Amino acid sequence: MEKTRYSRQIPLIGVEGQRKLRNSRVAIVGVGGLGTNVSQTLAMIGVGNILLVDHDRVSITDLNRQVLFTEKDIGKPKVIVAKKRLEDLNPEVNIEVVQEKLSGENINDLLKHYDIIVDCLDNWETRRVLDLYIWNAGKTLVHGAVNGFYGQVTTIRRGVTTCLSCLSPGTKNDEVPSIGPAVTLVASLQSLEVLKLAADLAEPLFNRIAVVDSLEPSITIVNIKPLNCGLCPS
Ligand SMILES: [Zn+2]
Repeated sequence: MEKTRYSRQIPLIGVEGQRKLRNSRVAIVGVGGLGTNVSQTLAMIGVGNILLVDHDRVSITDLNRQVLFTEKDIGKPKVIVAKKRLEDLNPEVNIEVVQEKLSGENINDLLKHYDIIVDCLDNWETRRVLDLYIWNAGKTLVHGAVNGFYGQVTTIRRGVTTCLSCLSPGTKNDEVPSIGPAVTLVASLQSLEVLKLAADLAEPLFNRIAVVDSLEPSITIVNIKPLNCGLCPS
């Protein structure tokens, strides 16, 4: 491990924390506004193994918020461009990519080697698939969602928290307005959740949801009461 690279953060997380980050395996599902920010931050701080899952290609409408892409990347697969940027940023990090849409059929194959899954999706249909998978597989999900200047972040783990479906029963998949600085703020909270989980630093947002108003600005922590959805509690 190249210690000089991390010399400003090792006082915060320790050599052992840094080693835990290097050994951690994190899957980022969705490489859009949230996913580009989260993957950039996790690569910077030395998360050792990162999987990027996204089927989409870069479009000009992505460039107001998706930090890994430039105009020259328009039309290229997002995961391929992102992998190159992240490897340029930190060659110590192992980046795997999958250019597919996550579904009930492929999810186990794609995510089985990853312990922490980061929900950087923009639709609830795929989130339901992800929620069911992490629940049954006993993995940890760092959920994030953005709508305009607002957003939310929480961490889901079977046996500890309620499931994501209970938390956000909504299923609307409408395209929402989205702007870079608000997305980056929500993504940053997600990255901190991954850091806390991977390096064993502090209590994650279990049974709590961080509700972000980026204009006020405020981050309100709301305690979550379990509902009875059939998935949880268990
Ligand atoms: Zn539930």
